[in-house]
Amino acid sequence: MLNIIMFGAPGSGKGTQSSLIAEKYQLVHLSTGDMLREEFARGTEIGKIADALISKGNLAPDYVILEMIEREIERHKENCNGFIFDGFPRNVIQAQSLDDLLAKDSKKLHLLIDLRVEEYLLIERLLKRGLTSGRADDQLEVIKKRLDIYHQVTAPVLDFYKQSGRYAAVENCTTIDEYFEEIVRLIKISVSSI
Ligand code: AMP
Repeated sequence: MLNIIMFGAPGSGKGTQSSLIAEKYQLVHLSTGDMLREEFARGTEIGKIADALISKGNLAPDYVILEMIEREIERHKENCNGFIFDGFPRNVIQAQSLDDLLAKDSKKLHLLIDLRVEEYLLIERLLKRGLTSGRADDQLEVIKKRLDIYHQVTAPVLDFYKQSGRYAAVENCTTIDEYFEEIVRLIKISVSSI
């Protein structure tokens, strides 16, 4: 089993790269942002609570996120090659909880891949996406708030993985293909069983 976190600031390409890596290694792709948007589209209570927070650039509550992640791990764990976590964990409590959840089944998180992209490019990409995504959080003021939260609350998660030797960074790539090839290379180096 191969369990990977695709990490990075909003607009860093986590979703795109997670889909490509999930396809290559036949992993279950778990995007907490997509799950929350689906809850909202279905009109659930969780979806409504989350949407009010998301549209202002705030994080959804940990209990909501952890419940969804636990449910999906339970659903797939017996018949999959592993998971790729996209947009999760977003704080240290979530990171610790993920380790605990996987350890319950004698499984572990192998590697976090940090997609490093310069801030001006992140803003440029998100504004461009906002033209077609219809996402309320792809507007300039909300983008700035999301980046603030990323630096203050989410980026500290990196130390948690660096300390346990499960960290790899990708930077100075330009195209989607270049990022993908570099990620595959890092996975091969870091996970000897692949
Ligand atoms: P994303 O699609 O990953 O950009 O997520 C969109 C929004 O959903 C984020 O800005 C947060 O408001 C919320 N969200 C997604 N994942 C999480 C998470 N792991 N913890 C808290 N909030 C999250």
